[in-house]
Amino acid sequence: RAKADGRHRFTLFSQDMIEISRRRLRIANAINNSLNANEFTLFYQPKVDVHQKIIGYEALVRWSNDELGHISPAEFIPIAEQSGKITQITEWVIEQAFKDSHSIFAVRNSITIALNLSIHDLKNPSLINIIYRLMLQYKVKPQQIEFEITESAYLDNFEGANLFIEEIRNMGCSIALDDFGTGYSSLSYLTQIKIDTLKIDKQFVDQIGVSQRSTLVTKTIIEMAKHLDLQVCAEGVETIEQSQLLLDSGCHILQGYYFGMPEPLEIILKKLQ
Ligand code: C2E
Ligand code: MG
Ligand code: MG
Ligand code: MG
Repeated sequence: RAKADGRHRFTLFSQDMIEISRRRLRIANAINNSLNANEFTLFYQPKVDVHQKIIGYEALVRWSNDELGHISPAEFIPIAEQSGKITQITEWVIEQAFKDSHSIFAVRNSITIALNLSIHDLKNPSLINIIYRLMLQYKVKPQQIEFEITESAYLDNFEGANLFIEEIRNMGCSIALDDFGTGYSSLSYLTQIKIDTLKIDKQFVDQIGVSQRSTLVTKTIIEMAKHLDLQVCAEGVETIEQSQLLLDSGCHILQGYYFGMPEPLEIILKKLQ
């Protein structure tokens, strides 16, 4: 009987695995056509300063497909990375954000737009030239563009990432280390990297007021970042309590549903006006 159960469970498990890999394959295969069919869009989420003034937006990619429905970037970005399609997505995101930036900067000139890059992008030797070319083409000021690189992408390829970052910063753009605190690594690398902003991961923000010890860790990260002359941004701020503690701890930039959800360009333009 136990054996039968075991076998049954095994069948279920392998059935699940087949479903998962089937879906992954469908997603990977749909990416190219979807890029051409304009199924991708960018949403924009505000970042605010200590006075709750909007200082910039993070572009977050959205994808809705007739057959697959709405697919979250948390699902398709890793698939795009593994199937080598991230390069096309990244190029599309950069070009679209540069196009969109004109209408944003027309309303508010003094803000920045942040774009997410993935592990794979840092290993793409032509990306720097593509960014440079698109910047000239769309007449975007590099000072108004920030690139967010996750801590894990950074640690995966430390030397390469440093070179990439140096070139990006020489161009005049700034760099934020995204999802900081989830990389499970020694902090010694922080003395060797040249970034502008450290983005504290939502999982720390979630613990504010829940766990005293985690709250203390979050405060210490902010303190440390300030000693290293870095700007600190907290992501995923959902409550006034989290916001208050982060501000009291000296956090410079806040982002999260409490201040604004990621929304389509038309909506954020209306709100900015
Ligand atoms: P991320 O860069 O850390 O972005 C933050 C994610 O948290 C976004 O999810 C955002 O919608 C969500 N978020 C923001 N504030 C809150 C909040 O207060 N509460 C909660 N529960 N969530 C909040 P999203 O848009 O689903 O993106 C997930 C991840 O996918 C991003 O994490 C980023 O790593 C990646 N991603 C998104 N767009 C792009 C892109 O254009 N290129 C690349 N390479 N990656 C992207
Ligand atoms: Mg990000
Ligand atoms: Mg993040
Ligand atoms: Mg995150």
